[in-house]
Amino acid sequence: MRELLDSEYDVIVIGAGPGGSMASYHSSINGAKTLLIDKSQEIGTPVRCAEAVPYLDEFGINPDPSFVRSKIDGGILVAPNGKKIIVKGGKTQGYVVERKIFDKHLAVRSANVGTKIAIKSRVVGLDYDGEKYTVIVNHLGQIYAIKAKIVIAADGVESSIAEMAGIKCKKKVTEICSCAEYEMTNVKLLDKNMMEFYFGDICPKGYVWIFPKGETANVGLGIIDSKKKAIDYLNEFLEHPLLEGRLDNATPIEFKCGGAPVGGPIEKTVADNFMVVGDAAGQISPISGGGIYLSLSCGSIAGKVAGEAIKSNNCSEDYLVEYENRWKEKYYKLLMDELKYKKVLQKFSEKELNALADAMDERLEEIDVAKIAFRAVKRAPSLLKYFKDII
Ligand SMILES: Cc1cc2nc3c(=O)[nH]c(=O)nc-3n(C[C@H](O)[C@H](O)[C@H](O)COP(=O)(O)OP(=O)(O)OC[C@H]3O[C@@H](n4cnc5c(N)ncnc54)[C@H](O)[C@@H]3O)c2cc1C
Repeated sequence: MRELLDSEYDVIVIGAGPGGSMASYHSSINGAKTLLIDKSQEIGTPVRCAEAVPYLDEFGINPDPSFVRSKIDGGILVAPNGKKIIVKGGKTQGYVVERKIFDKHLAVRSANVGTKIAIKSRVVGLDYDGEKYTVIVNHLGQIYAIKAKIVIAADGVESSIAEMAGIKCKKKVTEICSCAEYEMTNVKLLDKNMMEFYFGDICPKGYVWIFPKGETANVGLGIIDSKKKAIDYLNEFLEHPLLEGRLDNATPIEFKCGGAPVGGPIEKTVADNFMVVGDAAGQISPISGGGIYLSLSCGSIAGKVAGEAIKSNNCSEDYLVEYENRWKEKYYKLLMDELKYKKVLQKFSEKELNALADAMDERLEEIDVAKIAFRAVKRAPSLLKYFKDII
C-alpha cells in the first residue's frame, strides 16, 4: 500500500458505503485530491441490508442492470388482522439492488473521477495538529500514517471515527434496530413489484419485510430493545398463518444481520477539518430504517462542501458548517417528525393497529402520517389519544 498511496491528501473519506463513495465522488469532481478507505476486503461486503433503494436519477447514477434485481412500484402494508393497504407511486418507487455490486459500482464511479481507494485498511486512530489530521491505518498488519486537510467519517452504524475527533455519535442500545434477514428463493410474492410489510406482535416495535429481488426475495425484520433475538422472531414469522404457506417451499441462500441507528440524527456533524455522514451521523429514517437515500444525498453535500473548502483554503468548522446547514435544511425536520411518529406507533397494541388499518383507505399514493392520523381519528375516535400531538 505504501507504494500505491501518497502520504498526504486533501480529503480522506473513511468508509466506502453509499455515503462515503458519494462524498469521495463529489470531493474528487470538485478538484480535491481524495482517498477513500475501507476496512473490508471487498467493497459492499458483508451485506447488512434489505437492498431497497429509491430512484437514482437525482444522483446521476444509472440503474445499471448489473445491480438492479427488481423494479419496485410501491408497498403492501399488512395489519395483524390481515387487512392490506396498498401504497403505490411517489417516493415508494425504486429498486431492490444487489448491494454488493451497487456499492462497488459507486466506488468505481468515484475512482473514475480520480479518487484513490484503499481496501482492507482499517482506520485505527486519528491525530490532529490543529491544521491537518493524520489518519492511522492498519493494512494487513502494517501501520501507515496518512495526512489530510479534511477527514469525512462515513464509517456506518458502529462509527468510532467521529468519537476520535471529539464528536458524540455513539448510539444507545435502545436507538439501534437489530435486524435479521434471509435472502430466500422460491418465495411466493403477493406481487413481484411490491414490497410487503407486516406489523404487530410478530415483530414488536418494528416490522417484517419481504422485498422481491429478482429470482429471490429478502425476508427480514428489525426489532428494538427486545428480550428475544431478531432471528428467533424471523424464524417464527416464516410459519406465520398470515403468509398462507407462501414460504413453505422457500429456502435461504444467504443470511444477513446488522443494526440500523434509528434514534434520530446527531446534532453536531462538523468540526475543524472534520465531517460525519450517513449512518454514522444517524442520517436514516427512524421509522423505516431506510438510510441509503439519505447517505447518498448527505454524502454528496459533504463531498461538495469539502471540495469547495479545499479550493477556498479554509477547512475550519465555520466553513464546513455549510454541510450541516444544507443537510439539516433538507432533512432535519423530516427526521425529527418521523421520530415523534415512531414513538406513537410503537405504543399501538395489535387491536389498535387493526383499528388504524380499518380506518385507512385501501389504496394510498404516499405515507403522510399527519393525513393518515387525521382520517383514522375521524373514523376511529379512540385513536385520538395517540395522535393528538400530530394532527
Ligand atoms: C438489515 C438491514 C436492512 C436494511 N435495509 C435497508 C433498505 O432496504 N434500504 C435502505 O435504504 N436502507 C437499509 N438499511 C440501512 C442502510 O444499510 C444504511 O443506512 C446504509 O448502508 C448507510 O450507508 P453508510 O455509507 O452511512 O454506511 P455503511 O453502508 O454501513 O458503510 C460504512 C463502511 O465503513 C467501513 N468502515 C467502518 N469502520 C471502518 C474503519 N474503522 N476503517 C475503515 N472502514 C471502516 C465499513 O466497512 C463499511 O463499508 C438497512 C440496514 C440493515 C441493518
